[in-house]
Amino acid sequence: MPNCPECTSREKKKIQAKYEAETPEEDRGRDDLYKLFDEIEIPMKMDSATKHFICKRCGLYATREQVSDIRYKLNQKEKTRDDKHDDYLDWWQKSKKEKAES
Ligand SMILES: [Zn+2]
Repeated sequence: MPNCPECTSREKKKIQAKYEAETPEEDRGRDDLYKLFDEIEIPMKMDSATKHFICKRCGLYATREQVSDIRYKLNQKEKTRDDKHDDYLDWWQKSKKEKAES
């Protein structure tokens, strides 16, 4: 079952904040952080009648396609979170543009 993208994203922020609080800047490594991210397990439940995934934690209800779409958008948002124009539409437009160019 896929992890809930919404809960995973929230969990990542918590882990990153904790990691940055506990690890001096010179000891930090992206790989260490990614290893911690890999340990996140928030599997969704499958509703076989509707073929939708349900998150028991946040109530997200989505098809497999929507789950990957949300995960993709949240990943894009993470990457652009320092961007001053970081609102939903902006980064979504931008990610579409990047996709078209690459
Ligand atoms: Zn969730």
